[in-house]
Amino acid sequence: MSNATREILRSRVVKTSCHHNIASFYVARSPVRSKRLNHVPRVWMAAKHFDHSKNISTSSSISSLSSQELQTGTERSTSTPLSILPTSYLLRSLFVSSVTSKPYLLSPSLSILSFLSQPHRIALLSTDRNPVLHWIVKRLLYDQFCTGENAAEVQKVMKEMHKFGFLGVILTYAKETTFDHKSKKTEVPGSVLQQVDDAGKLQCAEIETWRAGTLQTVYMCSDGDKIALKLTGAGPTVTEAFAAGQLPSKQMLDALDEICEAARENKAQIIIDAESQHFQKGIAKTAVMLMKKYNTQKAPLVIQTYQCYLKRTRDGLAKDLAKAAQEGWSIGVKLVRGAYMSTDERSRIHDTKEDTDKAYDGIVRDLLRRDGDGFKGLGKPGNTPWPEMSVFLATHNKNTVMAAHKLNQQMVAEEGAKAVPLEFAQLHGMADSVSFSLLNAKNAQGEAPKVSKCSTWGSLGECLAYLLRRAVENREAASRTQDELDALRAEVKRRMFSFGR
Ligand SMILES: Cc1cc2nc3c(=O)[nH]c(=O)nc-3n(C[C@H](O)[C@H](O)[C@H](O)COP(=O)(O)OP(=O)(O)OC[C@H]3O[C@@H](n4cnc5c(N)ncnc54)[C@H](O)[C@@H]3O)c2cc1C
Repeated sequence: MSNATREILRSRVVKTSCHHNIASFYVARSPVRSKRLNHVPRVWMAAKHFDHSKNISTSSSISSLSSQELQTGTERSTSTPLSILPTSYLLRSLFVSSVTSKPYLLSPSLSILSFLSQPHRIALLSTDRNPVLHWIVKRLLYDQFCTGENAAEVQKVMKEMHKFGFLGVILTYAKETTFDHKSKKTEVPGSVLQQVDDAGKLQCAEIETWRAGTLQTVYMCSDGDKIALKLTGAGPTVTEAFAAGQLPSKQMLDALDEICEAARENKAQIIIDAESQHFQKGIAKTAVMLMKKYNTQKAPLVIQTYQCYLKRTRDGLAKDLAKAAQEGWSIGVKLVRGAYMSTDERSRIHDTKEDTDKAYDGIVRDLLRRDGDGFKGLGKPGNTPWPEMSVFLATHNKNTVMAAHKLNQQMVAEEGAKAVPLEFAQLHGMADSVSFSLLNAKNAQGEAPKVSKCSTWGSLGECLAYLLRRAVENREAASRTQDELDALRAEVKRRMFSFGR
């Protein structure tokens, strides 16, 4: 990106941004704590060149582990994967896991969270306007799963994640839209406001707000980090196009171009998240278009998400792999099981959890081995060859990640640098025992697998829908939550006994 382009980009972010998060970003980073917009370019540079190597100060989450605590943590016995966690974080994780593992505590908690997440609550019941409510939800829940409400908070957490040994952070801007297949209701984060830009063209204010928020997310990332995009966060004009299976408007496509170029400049990657099925056809179309345009190098800039709980995912992936090979672009494959079971059409989803597991693990195995039998004969003599690809497993399932890591090690031993690159990610505040077990699974050269933590930033109000989904997910994964709870309890016990000694 040329200096001139960057200057235009900066001034456009400043001129059109009307979101309070963006305002707090400016305020948080400005040396004089002024809201005056002419301070922003300096701020932008400060964020962009954020130094990940400096020490950090203490506070109360993973997210907020001090360098001193961290040092003690690493030097402490690493007999359990969780021994690296600060005690304050460990205790909050134990509290959250205890609540989510007990139906009689979780059900009322979910009802309260669902009530609070409805828009337009009176001030007393609004987490963004009632400071006491804000404090309680933020300390108990938000800090467990989210990065921060402004740039200062976000960057502190990101720095600490890097210090834990994670490759990077996958950062998401919280705004999104969900569609409930049963009630046919769309939860939209705003109305279709129009505003006039400098050239006198009508612009959708929702897209503009999303663009500015997402660009700020990009500027908070650096080498090794990724930006996960929830495209429905751009509001009704975009979701209408997606619901019709179409690409979004030119305004949105221009915004995506800016975001991809800024990410390339910052050496961060872009992940297109998979969302409600109602919107997914349009989202997938957009993702493929972006991969074709930006994945010109061996390592993809844009990564597309495939939901393995859907019966048709293997076929869709086979099509994209063939298209990538035929058109000469590299494909970034992020595999998830799928997070929209409670709202998506059930008949499209595998009948049982075991079927979803088989589908997920089978796709992982075939991709890592480049076995084309299940992908319409890809790579077989006379057929389309395999494209350049990298695989990214976003899952908390310990069996899946450990088996995939083992297979990857085997493939590296057999194929060396030609083996399919593999990365892992878990959500911030969840499955820490899986993340740290992976980081401990080093090879003979002492290299750990590439693991990232995925986190969301945004105001507490904006993050409530995300927090609600995390809570529902914990309810639906009772056995995994129990494993996590057991690991947390074991670590707390270990510390209590070593303290007494
Ligand atoms: C870093 C990260 C990024 C993510 N990004 C996305 C994303 O972009 N889009 C998205 O949709 N999800 C996303 N998810 C969530 C993911 O899809 C899963 O909901 C979540 O991770 C739980 O699945 P699991 O593989 O971790 O664990 P498991 O506990 O092994 O699997 C639980 C999952 O199995 C499936 N399942 C459960 N019961 C049944 C059943 N009866 N029949 C069929 N299937 C069943 C569901 O998908 C459920 O979520 C992400 C997760 C992570 C960790």
